[in-house]
Amino acid sequence: MSDCLFCKIISGELPSRKLYEDDSVVAFLDIFPAVTGHTLVVPKAHAENIFESSPLDLKAVMEVVLELAPKIQSAVGAEGLNITTNKGEVAGQSVFHTHVHILPRKEGDGRELWKPMDPVPDLDALHEKIIDQIKKKG
Ligand code: 5GP
Ligand code: ZN
Repeated sequence: MSDCLFCKIISGELPSRKLYEDDSVVAFLDIFPAVTGHTLVVPKAHAENIFESSPLDLKAVMEVVLELAPKIQSAVGAEGLNITTNKGEVAGQSVFHTHVHILPRKEGDGRELWKPMDPVPDLDALHEKIIDQIKKKG
């Protein structure tokens, strides 16, 4: 995709601080890191989000995540990790080329995950609704 930021990073048209590269995957430091060591792991094949990437590309991406993340965690002296991907603008996706975030976490780093809903919705009704959707064909 000629106007895709990550495709330009993959092709070398734009610079990046690469940590890993093979035939199908590249990993590089996030330029606006949320935490120290924030890294993006990206399939070379352009796709808008994980649901558009092939299972083979996603497998390759996750293999790199599993290999790289503990090393990044050690390198920055972190104690844990968040591994995330955002799908859609409403979920915080800003670059529309599939990517997985590696976020090394330290005690007291000030980052928060989502908090539980208050009040908690009717989980029985919700369970039924989602099961109905899963059972639908297509
Ligand atoms: P998203 O918001 O789509 O889940 O994640 C996109 C990520 O790409 C963000 O964390 C953002 O900081 C990062 N990003 C945006 N532009 C660039 C860039 O030019 N270079 C690098 N290395 N990261 C970028
Ligand atoms: Zn792209």
